[in-house]
Amino acid sequence: MKKIDFRTASFKDFEHIAGMDIMERARYFRTYLDYLAKRRRLNYRLESSSPCGPEMRILLPGHQRPKKLITMVSNDYLGFTQHPEIIRANITAMNQYGTGSGASPAIGGHFAYHQLLEDRIAAFYGREHALLYTTGYTANSATLQCLLGKDDIAILDMAVHASVYEGCQLTNVKRVLHNNMDMLNNVLKQAQHSYRTKLVVVDGVYSQDGDLAPLHEITHMAHHYGAYVLMDDAHGTGVVGATGRGVAELTHTLPDIDIITGTFSKSLAHLGGYVVADDDLIQYLKYQSRQHLFSTSAGPSTLGIVRALELIDEEPQWRTKLWENIDHLTYGLLGLGLDIGTTGSAIVPVKIGDIAKTLEAGKQLLRAGVYANPIMYPAVAKKDARIRLNVMATHTQAQLDRVLEAFASVKHRVLR
Ligand code: PMP
Repeated sequence: MKKIDFRTASFKDFEHIAGMDIMERARYFRTYLDYLAKRRRLNYRLESSSPCGPEMRILLPGHQRPKKLITMVSNDYLGFTQHPEIIRANITAMNQYGTGSGASPAIGGHFAYHQLLEDRIAAFYGREHALLYTTGYTANSATLQCLLGKDDIAILDMAVHASVYEGCQLTNVKRVLHNNMDMLNNVLKQAQHSYRTKLVVVDGVYSQDGDLAPLHEITHMAHHYGAYVLMDDAHGTGVVGATGRGVAELTHTLPDIDIITGTFSKSLAHLGGYVVADDDLIQYLKYQSRQHLFSTSAGPSTLGIVRALELIDEEPQWRTKLWENIDHLTYGLLGLGLDIGTTGSAIVPVKIGDIAKTLEAGKQLLRAGVYANPIMYPAVAKKDARIRLNVMATHTQAQLDRVLEAFASVKHRVLR
């Protein structure tokens, strides 16, 4: 058996190792985790003992007590996980309905609060029909698995989320270079007469670069060649667009996107996912999508999401504050001469490239009191390692200034 070089390894290298059964592989992987931990490079699953927010108390490896850190890791972009009215809506719902739904939707687990949320999330996008899943991940994976088979093709922007790749395992897949419209055009042209269903799958906001899909060109091109478009706007909802409807609002393409998927776990401060599409497709998924049909529906605190959707319209000041913070941070990072790519959202990558330097930068930031995620292969290409920063409406400018100071020091000490 060929040994893996731990110095350059990634988690992906341990997925398949010839000749090792799963127990042996798990044991070998464990020695790799111990190797990373010993070098203080295993800064994942850090435990927080305080609520989700712009500052959290985090237990760092090797420490006895949690340390208060400025956090740049949360997708709770509007700070709604701590909004008193949303908390109240969750509690009121539980007082009325209890804690769980008790069954899958088709056989006793479809309640008035599910129907209300389906109606509200469809209306949020100016559509009439939606379907709930228990995570954003399954909203993508289960929908794609249900809709596409061996005679079909999924044409994916290569930067789409892992859940999309998982949903496309039983169909044909063609990957298009990120936001490359010439390549998309060529792939669509070639696929035009060869497959039963052709579905272009893109994100609205891309989760590692924070950049946006050119939806106007994509929908136009796809429809020209007889293909449909599925867009996952997990990170755009509540953040992008004049009223927070996401990248489709910004690009005036809301009516042109055939299937919108998304999550309740980011700006909407809860858990769960959704698909918005026309009536026939939603009815089809309702009775054909295995994960919807055979898995228990979400609990009554779902009503907290309904309140969060209302607050997106009633309290636009959170989105205004978020954008002030995004502008403040990006302006400061650019002033330090750092490469933040082409972000158009609350996700700001500081691109470093080299994996070892990125890990070192992550370590130095933690030391300076800033919790930010180093992102590397396989989440991004090997040469594209970066620190990813997630901005929240509830960050203060003083906190963001401390983040900028920490980056000034990282630039001086690590990125010379
Ligand atoms: N789509 C994208 C683009 C994501 O970044 C994520 C999760 N981070 C998901 C889908 C999955 O959503 P959830 O966490 O609700 O399962």
